[in-house]
Amino acid sequence: MSIQLALQQVRQNILLAQEKSPYAMRGEVKLLAVSKTQPVERIAEACHAGQKIFAENRVQELVEKQQVFPNVSWHLIGHLQTNKVRHIVNKIELLHSLESIGLADELQKRLSVFETVLPVLIQVNIAEEQSKYGLAPNEVSDFLDALADFPALQVQGLMTIGPLTAQGEEIRPIFRELRRLLQQEKKRYLPHTALHHLSMGMSGDYMIAVEEGATMVRVGSSIFGARSVMYDS
Ligand SMILES: *Cc1c(COP(=O)(O)O)cnc(C)c1O
Repeated sequence: MSIQLALQQVRQNILLAQEKSPYAMRGEVKLLAVSKTQPVERIAEACHAGQKIFAENRVQELVEKQQVFPNVSWHLIGHLQTNKVRHIVNKIELLHSLESIGLADELQKRLSVFETVLPVLIQVNIAEEQSKYGLAPNEVSDFLDALADFPALQVQGLMTIGPLTAQGEEIRPIFRELRRLLQQEKKRYLPHTALHHLSMGMSGDYMIAVEEGATMVRVGSSIFGARSVMYDS
């Protein structure tokens, strides 16, 4: 299947999921094309098909591709090590994986030099899996309070990666919990935030995520085809 056709199908599926569910977001759900491991030719093809937002999970790869395609948006969806922060400042539109004060601290330092603000999402490990990055759900409130001390970071919402072992409907409670958490935090007075985004759903489950209120979905293989190498996220 061509990338153009695949993108059309994914966009169509997002609309269908929006129509189906009362919890779905009423405005536009942002589709992020996850281009990790994909060569520039395939990214170019997606651009020609009208795709405007791309996501990578490794800093080095993102920076290289951002240089080739400076006029589309780049989001970082993978773990960010503090020693790599300087590479991404001014390169990305949204960081999906903020999950420690150490990282917030380093971002604040680097961003304040440029007097810029970086929109970020807090990564939450809803299922509290050992192997995953992200805050436990019960840590999110305190973390949001602590972020008041980092004015260069604008918190726009929450992100989660569902358990890879979850099949079909098993994932729905995870997405529902992330939505509940966002709603709970939205009710508090947090003037340093603009909480409205829920980044959840990948190729196998983005329709369920949209039904549960995702405002952004991160879709790789359903757009570009299966990745040829095993790739950890
Ligand atoms: C790779 C990746 C995706 C996309 O995965 P697909 O199953 O190919 O759609 C989404 N989110 C994160 C964090 C990833 O690392």
